[in-house]
Amino acid sequence: MGAADQLKTPAQYRRGESDLVQRGGKWFLIATCDLPEPEEFEPVDWIGKEHRHATHLNHRISKEIVSVAQRNGRGLAVEELDAIRDRVRLRRDQRGTLSSWPFHRLGQHLAYKARRAGVPFLEVDATYTSQRCPRCGHTERANRPTRDRFSCRRCGLAGPVDVVAGVNVRHRARSAWVFVTAPVPIPV
Ligand SMILES: [Zn+2]
Repeated sequence: MGAADQLKTPAQYRRGESDLVQRGGKWFLIATCDLPEPEEFEPVDWIGKEHRHATHLNHRISKEIVSVAQRNGRGLAVEELDAIRDRVRLRRDQRGTLSSWPFHRLGQHLAYKARRAGVPFLEVDATYTSQRCPRCGHTERANRPTRDRFSCRRCGLAGPVDVVAGVNVRHRARSAWVFVTAPVPIPV
């Protein structure tokens, strides 16, 4: 076992569980540190995220999203991961690893970073977020004439699909948050 000297530094700061694992002939110490989590703030509104482009959202970008949310007092709302999984077509050779990358990890990045920053985090129902018009409510497959384009057949609202879906996610987060934070009724 090599690189034993590398264990010195993390061990000093180790607080929680730890694990020594071997990857590609090298040893790594996986340590979990218990750090205090800040209180969640009350969001003034939500940033809604559609995750059709989830594969491009890496560590750095999810960090930026959380930082923007924190600065603006917004919560973060994303589409439920199961729904995304159903909607996205994957190559045959990707199907075996569906539960790991990228959707699951992306959600974890965001959820984890949000929690550490005190940013409220919600997953909302993703049904029809790409087909529903956020202005008039009209929902139809034809509202999405191409993969990237939204154009409402009833009222004419048009824009990029991911932006429109993000607005729908935000609307759902507003309703969901009211429900989550509603006072518990006293049983009679
Ligand atoms: Zn419309």
